[in-house]
Parts: sequence; C-alpha cells; structure tokens
Amino acid sequence: MNKLDSAIVESSLRDAGYQFVDNAKDADVVLFNTCSVRDHAEQRVMSHLGHLKHIKESKPDLVVGVIGCMAQRLGSELFKQSAVDIVCGPAQIAEIPRLIDEAIKEKKKAVAVTEKIRQLSPDGQALERFETEYGVEDSEIPGQAYVRAMHGCDKFCSYCVVPYVRGPETSRPPEAIIEQTRRLAQNGVKQVTLLGQRINAYEYKAGDKTYCLADLLNMISEIDGIEWIKFVTSYPSAKYFNQIMEAMSKLPKVCRYLHIPAQSGSDNILKAMNRGYTCAEYLKLLDMARQIVPDIAVAGDFIVGFPGETDNDFAQTVDLIKKARYKNSFIFKYSPRPGTIADKRLEDNIPQEIKNKRNCELLNVQEEISGELARDFSGKTVTVLVEGPSKKSHLDKDIVGRAGLAPPKQSGGVNPTLQSSAAKSGIQLVGRTATDWIVVFNGPPASAGETSPASTCRLGEAGPNGGPSLAGQFATVKINRTSPLTLFGELVENHTA
Ligand code: SAM
Ligand code: SF4
Repeated sequence: MNKLDSAIVESSLRDAGYQFVDNAKDADVVLFNTCSVRDHAEQRVMSHLGHLKHIKESKPDLVVGVIGCMAQRLGSELFKQSAVDIVCGPAQIAEIPRLIDEAIKEKKKAVAVTEKIRQLSPDGQALERFETEYGVEDSEIPGQAYVRAMHGCDKFCSYCVVPYVRGPETSRPPEAIIEQTRRLAQNGVKQVTLLGQRINAYEYKAGDKTYCLADLLNMISEIDGIEWIKFVTSYPSAKYFNQIMEAMSKLPKVCRYLHIPAQSGSDNILKAMNRGYTCAEYLKLLDMARQIVPDIAVAGDFIVGFPGETDNDFAQTVDLIKKARYKNSFIFKYSPRPGTIADKRLEDNIPQEIKNKRNCELLNVQEEISGELARDFSGKTVTVLVEGPSKKSHLDKDIVGRAGLAPPKQSGGVNPTLQSSAAKSGIQLVGRTATDWIVVFNGPPASAGETSPASTCRLGEAGPNGGPSLAGQFATVKINRTSPLTLFGELVENHTA
C-alpha cells in the first residue's frame, strides 16, 4: 500500500516538474512515506527526522515532509520534530504538490490530515481522480504496477492501527480500476497486483449488479497486454472465497498465489485478536483453495508474543504452520500500537526474550517447509517476470532471511559456480514466478542486455550495450539449485528474443 502511495506521489511530482535525486543531501525537498503498523518503523522515521534537523541547520530552505500513516496518526505532533514542514495523511496525498509549493514559496508549516478518519472523506473524489491519473508502473520493477482496489479497513483486529489511519473500507468503482489497468497495459505493464487490506472483501454495487473480486479478475483478464494478475492481501473469510478460487482456477492470467494471513493457530488468541475465525475454519479455507487450485502457493503472516500467548497457544501456531505448508510466512513480534483495543485493554505481558525465541522458532519451522517446497523445483523449468539485475540484497536475503525467514543453518551465500558462469554469460538477474518464488539466474551475455547491477534499464529500452533489456520481460529458467528463499537457475529462453 505504501509503495503504491509513493509511486503515485512520485508520478504527480514528476508531472509538476520535480526531479528525483538519490541522496537526501542533494535534495531541496525530502518526503518520508511512513508506516505505523509497528513501533519500530515509526522509530526509524523519528531517527531520520533527527538527522535531517542537522542537515537543515546548514540548508535552511530544505523542505521536509512526513506523509502516510504516521502523519495521520500523529498529525501536528510531528512538528515537535523541528525539521518537519509538511504533515500529510494518506487520504490527502493529492494535496502534496500544492503543500510543497507553499512550503517553498511561503515558508510555512502545513498539516493536511483527516480530522474524523472513520467518516467517509469528502476528499474521496479528488483522491480517486488523483489515483486514476497518477497510477503508474512501479518505478523500481519495470513491467509491473500496483492498482488499489480498496481503501481502508473495517475489521478492527485488536492489535492493528490500519483502520485508524487508513479510514473506512471502501471499494473503488470497477470502471476506474479497469480504466487505470488498461492505461497501464498500454504503457507496457504486464503484471498488475490488486491491493486491499482485505482484497477478497472487494464489493461494489452498481445498479442491480454487485461486483466482487472474481468479477474484477474476469474483467482484467480481458485486457490485452496484461499477462499476470495478482492480488493481496486476502482475509480468511468464506464470503466470495469460492468464487475467487474458481476464477483463479479458470483464468490463466490470474496467478496461483494466495497471501492469507492467519496471525495465530490458537483459537484463544484469534479471539483476543478479534479475527473472527477459528483455526479449523482457517484450515478449511486452505483446503478449499487447494481443492479448487491444486498447485496454489500460499503465504501467511503471524504475530508472536500477543498479550497472554501461552506456550500452548504458541505450540498451536507451530502446528498450523506445519499443516498449512506455506511457501513463506511473514512473522512479526507483537508491537503495541497506541489507540488500538489490544493496547487499551491488554497488557503487553510477553517478555521480549520470549517474543524473540518464538519468532526464531517459527522462522525455523517455516524455513524447513520452504526448503522442502523449493526443492520440488529442482530440474524443473519455470516462467519468470524479470525484475532486473539481481541486487546484492537478493543474495543477502538468501543468506540472512527475507521478511521473516531465518538464516539457513549453513550460510551458503552466492554459489561460486554461479558467480563465475555469470561473468561468462551475463550478469545475474532476478525475477519472480507467478507463484511468487524469487528466481536468480544468469542473464544473456552482456552484449545482449544489462552489464552491471547498477543498470536500471526500463522496459523496451536498450540495455547499456545496445541490446534489449530483459527487465519487465518474461523468461524461461531451468532451476538447478534451491534455497528456502530463492531458486537459482539458467536462462532457457528469453521472451524478448
Ligand atoms: N490486512 C492484512 C490482514 O488482515 O492480514 C494485513 C495488514 S497489516 C498492515 C500487515 C501485517 O502486519 C499483519 O498481517 C500482521 O501480521 C502485522 N501486524 C499488524 N499489526 C501489528 C502489530 N501491532 N504488531 C505486530 N505485527 C502487526
Ligand atoms: Fe489490520 Fe485486521 Fe484490517 Fe488487516 S484486516 S488491516 S490486520 S485491521
């Protein structure tokens, strides 16, 4: 969600004539797009703001803005950080170009947040126009784009700040989503990811017809140029689930990937979290998904150390991970968020060391399963949408774990064979399968594509040496080595050829 907001703001600012630089030191305006889901994320922003205060001493005209959830949550309190000039909530992002303009010209501090975030905003239409106009291809991953299908959330899980900072759950009109996607396709986008906090709850009434996510998937499948359609995040609820899985099964463009967070395997904890389902009901949904789409890849989210989580509750979560056989899980330590029901009513009574221990244990269990699932790919051929040159981080992720996967027991790092053959046959590229597996492989020889990991060739542009860039294109890769997080292979066919 935040990545999408950043892309839209970036696009609107480019349109207004601003240029982007890599380093805050070289900038006249610095914007932080912030997340409030965990305290750690907010603390990092605070520390950056403290640092900018020093830069501002020698560069007083520098304009600093905080946008996103933290802006909505803290409002003008953020001005206690003296570096801050602009505070702008997620529902006001359409105002950012104007706010920056005023901050530069009039040198005044400005705050734009929604006073009553749980009321439907009168700015809704302005936001809708802004979104449709500036919804663009991902600036980091050519050929891909996020498209918001829903705003906000009405679920009020007891630990979660999202309903308080993103407002009520609303579904965008299907025609706006389709129009935006069509434009993206015309600009070369091949994969769209529909976004919503509970994307499977998408519901839009127009006359006699009620559109659900399955309808959107059908309509987007008709758009020429769009090859892959993904959607996140699914909420474990039965409404529309069957239709969505049927759509996934029958529509070849819909990727067979389901991110469906469980959060806990204990019914007691699920109740305290206000999730509204039991572990058995959750597993029933997974069974249904696998019956309708047998090769579906499933990913989960878990919170460890929720108030009152006993060893027995935790053991049930371990058990759920084993039964669910996720491709990967995102595992978080409970972080009390001010204003939420859990923070008001429940004591954060699980000591940090227990949270750390449970976090590690879940990561290890998940790693085991991910490793087994990954090994099934050995010797097989997969289609990937190429993201671009493999940054060192992709390989580091393999070593240190990605968003929740623990370090492999023996840190492998880059396979030396792969590295040396990369030199011969082109630089390492990274792509993802339709089921979201990360695939690292050697690109075509340098003369036919990218030459250095710093290269950021765009879709359809020539690579640095005059050949076509593979970023944003599909490629066929034969997998010859796997780790729990990454599949490694050889390019079999480059679809630009
Ligand atoms: N809407 C999605 C859902 O219901 O699963 C998730 C959205 S939330 C922004 C992303 C993840 O952050 C959640 O799945 C949850 O695991 C985690 N999360 C949210 N609030 C948290 C908190 N207070 N402490 C730790 N993790 C949290
Ligand atoms: Fe937060 Fe629950 Fe809404 Fe997801 S469904 S955004 S966890 S309140």
